[in-house]
Amino acid sequence: MGSIAPEDDSLRVAIIGGGIVGLVLAAGLARRQVNVRLFEQAQGFREVGAGIAFNATAIRSMELIDPGVIGALRLAGAVPLSAADEDDPNDYLRWIDGYNQRDPDNPYSQKFYYKACAGYRGFEGVRRDQFLEELVKLFPPGVIQCGKRLENIEQRGSDDKMLLSFRDGTTFEADAVIGCDGIKSSTREFVIGKDSPAGEPSYTHINSYRTLIPMDKAIGVLGEYKARIFHNHIGPRANLLHYPVAESTMVNVTAFVHDPDDWPAGKPTTLMGSRDDVRAAFRDWNPAVRDLVDLFPDQLHMWAVFDLWEYPLPFYNRGRVCLAGDAAHATSPHHGAGAGMGIEDALCLSVLMGEVLASTRRDRAARGAALTTAFDVYDKVRRTRSQWLVNSSRRMCDLHHQDDWANPAKWLKAETCFEEVKDRSHKIWYYDIAGMVMDTIETFGKAADGRVQDAVLAKDVSAKDVSAMDVSVKDVLAKDESINSLAINSLVAAVSEIRVDS
Ligand SMILES: Cc1cc2nc3c(=O)[nH]c(=O)nc-3n(C[C@H](O)[C@H](O)[C@H](O)COP(=O)(O)OP(=O)(O)OC[C@H]3O[C@@H](n4cnc5c(N)ncnc54)[C@H](O)[C@@H]3O)c2cc1C
Repeated sequence: MGSIAPEDDSLRVAIIGGGIVGLVLAAGLARRQVNVRLFEQAQGFREVGAGIAFNATAIRSMELIDPGVIGALRLAGAVPLSAADEDDPNDYLRWIDGYNQRDPDNPYSQKFYYKACAGYRGFEGVRRDQFLEELVKLFPPGVIQCGKRLENIEQRGSDDKMLLSFRDGTTFEADAVIGCDGIKSSTREFVIGKDSPAGEPSYTHINSYRTLIPMDKAIGVLGEYKARIFHNHIGPRANLLHYPVAESTMVNVTAFVHDPDDWPAGKPTTLMGSRDDVRAAFRDWNPAVRDLVDLFPDQLHMWAVFDLWEYPLPFYNRGRVCLAGDAAHATSPHHGAGAGMGIEDALCLSVLMGEVLASTRRDRAARGAALTTAFDVYDKVRRTRSQWLVNSSRRMCDLHHQDDWANPAKWLKAETCFEEVKDRSHKIWYYDIAGMVMDTIETFGKAADGRVQDAVLAKDVSAKDVSAMDVSVKDVLAKDESINSLAINSLVAAVSEIRVDS
């Protein structure tokens, strides 16, 4: 059995999964001097050639994770969603009537419903494959290992390292493991247990079809303005949205179609679909939408959309293993923010691993406890917001797909949804990400201090007790103690003495 041996005694963190979240996280850890290895089951990085859009919070998170990530985004041809609007520097999401033909003299006319301001460079679209390609270039050889499917994790060894086993028979020892292995995560089993009902993906009854269309062709059917700027054409039980990518040379188009049936167990969730399927779904829609669908290729990928809405995880961590991105909170895509939420996770984890490294530089034996604390803090900071997204995305789909859009008597009622759409969107786009970083650092600091104080206050604490202080930070935080730094220093000194004495 081959083994990938760690070369030194640095903080070694293994990331499982080389999707967007795993790669961005790896960049953040590498920047903070963590000895990171990323293991991807596939033989290479081949994202589908479809687009993805990142909101302002995700973009700001990338900047804080590593400016190299922003560099990769721009080199991959990212373009603001409203770049073509010369009269206004801000980006907007725009919703229009995709279904009705309200003007008998012009069947192509579409009622403009609403626009929500995402701010300056508040949303950028990029091709997934090109972004991944640029991200991979950030790493020196050896950091990313392909063809490594994780099969097992166990904690063992004198210093309680995590031992990872891969399908190819190799193993790897790490101080901590972060599962970024998507909705069908294998790491999740280790965190929540094999028999837990949590983490079971549910079918959202939505199928999505994605394709890229050359800009000139899209302009031919939509006109210059509409083709170059994000528009979401909504109607009963479906919607179709598009935005520019690849330096505005291509338009990313995604159609979301309601499916009343269940998804058979075991059936692959990514399939080849056909343009005819999409045509059938939009048969009665405004001709502007139908003409766009006519530009789809004969055959294109279709994704059955699953999420973790019905069975959310009760926690994202266990000991020195935690989950991020879709592995923790896979969401349906109606906010266009699933990857963005994973990038927020990556920022939180990058900051925490930096804190662990800094706080244990002189005391490597304390690393295990510090890592456990860090992952507890991560769970506390990230879980509520990321699970809210999963919930809110389902709600956005219901609002987009109302039957009322097809009923003139209900049009006004249907349009009242946009106040809610705005509130939900702003919660994502205008999040105080710097505040999250401060909260993360402060919570980690308090928790680490709490561990030290507890040790000193215990009358007969032994070295074994100290190392067993791998306890949940939640217990410590529940006390809500504030400790001044002079006291902390003497407590740290006292604990060091206890270790030496015993
Ligand atoms: C139609 C659609 C449109 C979307 N649009 C947007 C958008 O505009 N903006 C946005 O922010 N989000 C969007 N999303 C959501 C976004 O695509 C996901 O949230 C994001 O890609 C998840 O990234 P991830 O790295 O967490 O997981 P994944 O991309 O699923 O990556 C997981 C990786 O782990 C690997 N892996 C799995 N198991 C193992 C194992 N045992 N060992 C080793 N490797 C393993 C996989 O091969 C894979 O490479 C959209 C989603 C859909 C379906």
